[in-house]
Amino acid sequence: MTKPRIHLLHQAIAPRPNRRPHFGTFALVALALFATQASAAESRSRPNIVLILADDIGYGDLGCYGATKVRTPNLDRLAREGSRFTDAHATASVCTPTRFALLTGRYAWRQPGTGIAPGDATLLIKPGTVTLASSLKSAGYSTGPVGKWHLGLGETTPDFNADLKPGPLELGFDYAFFIPATGDRTPCVFVENHRVVGLDPADPITVSYDKRIGTDPTGLERPDLLKIKADASHSQTIVNGISRIGYMTGGKKARWVDEDIADTLTQRAVAFLDRQQSGKPFFLFLPTHDIHEPMVPHPRFRGTSECGWRGDVIHQLDWTVGQVLAALDRRGLAQDTLVIFTSDNGGAIKTTYDDGTNALHALQSPNGVLRGTKGQLYEGGHRVPFISRWPGHIPAGRTSDALLGLIDLLPSFATLTAQKLPPGAAPDAVDVLPALLGAPGAQGRDTLVLQSNRQSPLALRAGPWKLIERQNGPHELYDLATDPTESVNLAARAPARVQALAQRLAAERAKSTP
Ligand code: CA
Repeated sequence: MTKPRIHLLHQAIAPRPNRRPHFGTFALVALALFATQASAAESRSRPNIVLILADDIGYGDLGCYGATKVRTPNLDRLAREGSRFTDAHATASVCTPTRFALLTGRYAWRQPGTGIAPGDATLLIKPGTVTLASSLKSAGYSTGPVGKWHLGLGETTPDFNADLKPGPLELGFDYAFFIPATGDRTPCVFVENHRVVGLDPADPITVSYDKRIGTDPTGLERPDLLKIKADASHSQTIVNGISRIGYMTGGKKARWVDEDIADTLTQRAVAFLDRQQSGKPFFLFLPTHDIHEPMVPHPRFRGTSECGWRGDVIHQLDWTVGQVLAALDRRGLAQDTLVIFTSDNGGAIKTTYDDGTNALHALQSPNGVLRGTKGQLYEGGHRVPFISRWPGHIPAGRTSDALLGLIDLLPSFATLTAQKLPPGAAPDAVDVLPALLGAPGAQGRDTLVLQSNRQSPLALRAGPWKLIERQNGPHELYDLATDPTESVNLAARAPARVQALAQRLAAERAKSTP
């Protein structure tokens, strides 16, 4: 794009015989100046992108969002150097549907089977779908996810001893290093591109979510082997002294050590940054394991917060962010990189695992003043921290109340990188780039549909209003402008508004999307 523009300009201002001699000098200076500006413009139009998607971090979990019992200096720095959003939403209040919507720009509730995926799920996104990664790859980006995938693998039940595909690489990523599902689900191994890392062929992996397999002890059978207690749903195969959801056998050498997961993912993310070639933009998607359960901080973070291991893994997460920012600084890339930090759903204080510090977790509300938690349709389920930094392009130290969803990043990044999406791509997403960049008056999107783990009931946000569907009772209505804590249900007082919003939600449901 840049070169032809320079060429045209050169033609337009090139010295002609009838012009005074000094104009040629002027033209060369102007040309050089323009070339420099054009190069800067190209850099501006295709910044590197680092998207850090934390897991289960709530609206009140970071210092820059009001937390006082944990310290998040690196995230606070990011907020100081960039903009902090107060009305950003994860689209769903649990992992898998948020990730589906984030990558495809399509509401997950439109596709059955996109609820929380087991560790042996098949790939939930059809190869060929335009994704956040494929769009950026089309724009010339080097693309890589490092972290937690949780969107299934393969066309049939995955064989963890063979090539695991289709997966991230078939959806537009050039490189992938990831946890297949979650930290609390089998298989407890990392995958790099198509293969389990460190797998000994003589010790093949088998995974089951239906029945007990193999001879590995379970949490129910051998609670004496556990380093943290677990409830019945998390009491199947024991790996690294922690019982999981699901069974697995084999893969002993490939199994992760929970205390080292953050270090491993951080090291891989920084390595991805370090091997990028200058001149080619990159997209690093870093969906962290932290702070999903089991919350098992590395020993160096234990006891560093005031609210138990849950706070300690927030410190660990902040450290990861710091390492990524330091890597950008070290390579002189901070000015040319858009960094976004957000979360896949709201926070929760869970008791599925008991590390002995659970009582301390309650010293700080994960979602601040918001009502509800992960898994719910109240704000605490889906309103998440959202910080964006791009020096010189995103106002520093600004707070924005623009409404946006993680689902909107696909078309926003497409606009940012001058990509025209094909018809039907990202059907539920809105280009919120002006709001993201802090353009005066940019207010993001008007409406947003929110879900929990299921396809129904849903919630609809429209301006300040929020309708929460209830299947076994009347719907709820809140005015978030005056009642951000969803304390006063206005449904009985405003039946016409409830009806109007319900009709809008029904219209959204009825839309036909690819
Ligand atoms: Ca999550």
